[in-house]
Amino acid sequence: MKKNKLAIILVSVVALLAVVLFVCSFFMLKQAKKTKEEAKQMTLEALDETREEGKASDSQVVEPTETQDSVIAFEDADDNIFIIEEANIRTEPSTDAQVIETAPKSKLFKRTGISADWSRLEYNGQTCYVSNDLISTEMPEEAVNGELLENGTGDAGVAEQTSGKIVVIDPGHQGHGDSGQEPIGPGASETKPRVSSGTSGSVSGLDEYELNLIVSLQLRDELQSRGYTVYMTRETHDVSMSNKERADYAASVGGDVFVRIHANGSEDSSVSGALTMAPSDGNPFLSSDLITQSQALSQCVIDSYVAATGFNNQGVYMTDDMSGINWCSMPVTIVEMGYMSSPSDDAAMADPSMQVNMVDGIANGIDQYFASQAG
Ligand SMILES: [Zn+2]
Repeated sequence: MKKNKLAIILVSVVALLAVVLFVCSFFMLKQAKKTKEEAKQMTLEALDETREEGKASDSQVVEPTETQDSVIAFEDADDNIFIIEEANIRTEPSTDAQVIETAPKSKLFKRTGISADWSRLEYNGQTCYVSNDLISTEMPEEAVNGELLENGTGDAGVAEQTSGKIVVIDPGHQGHGDSGQEPIGPGASETKPRVSSGTSGSVSGLDEYELNLIVSLQLRDELQSRGYTVYMTRETHDVSMSNKERADYAASVGGDVFVRIHANGSEDSSVSGALTMAPSDGNPFLSSDLITQSQALSQCVIDSYVAATGFNNQGVYMTDDMSGINWCSMPVTIVEMGYMSSPSDDAAMADPSMQVNMVDGIANGIDQYFASQAG
């Protein structure tokens, strides 16, 4: 019986221990589960945060990429712009981009596109860009004076005569004529095409607008080497500028004379020679002073031109039908360098060695005109 009692006690102790163990393990398991859930929760939260951070960093990366990499949106444009202060013309729409040229005030460019900050230009067959802060679609009003020469740079003798003198050269016509009409002078009811397409060479294969620019660019260089300040209405074929607008441009840059470079054409291929054009005494659009000075300029230029080239002298042709003369506010001449319809004139004008003489002759005439006005 004593043995039985001992067994009962032992069983009770074991049972009690089992209960304690069970309870303990129950709580331990519960705790473990809780910890595990907490851990899982933390992991999930951490994952969420990572995802959100991921999103945030994605967007931070994406947005600047869109700004930097995507091409700046340019809307198409088709107009002319003028440089209002010295401006860098660049290969890309960025101030980090390579500078093609530093363009002077008043220089004219053809614009093909526009964005918020930049304008896209066509220049010498190249696409380039300029900041919108440095340009205007209006011609600059204030004239640029020949300050460059006042500090006595260059040949003193030449500078004395040409100092401060501004020659504006208009290479006649452009790549495409413009048959839109404009009045032939201030207040005129008669209209003419804004700019005609010009003639073309019978043997040279050149179009007149090409020959005019070839000679005008050399004339620009020659006049600059003689100390003049020179402006060009165009330095490419790809412009749209009416004859009135060319005269306005000459005024806007403060020109002292306006020299318009053209070549002639006739149905008779045997007609040859050079002439200049000036307004007649009765021109209703110009002051008598401007008429007289334009006639004097035209006479000086034609005489010097034929002396330098040996072309036939057809003299000064008086006309009041030329928009680019009638709208002018300074002495003006049109140089008809020769007849592109004449095989001999055309071949001569296309010859670079003759072009040197042609340019020399025109420049000599301009020198003589200023000398005569000074005296
Ligand atoms: Zn012409």
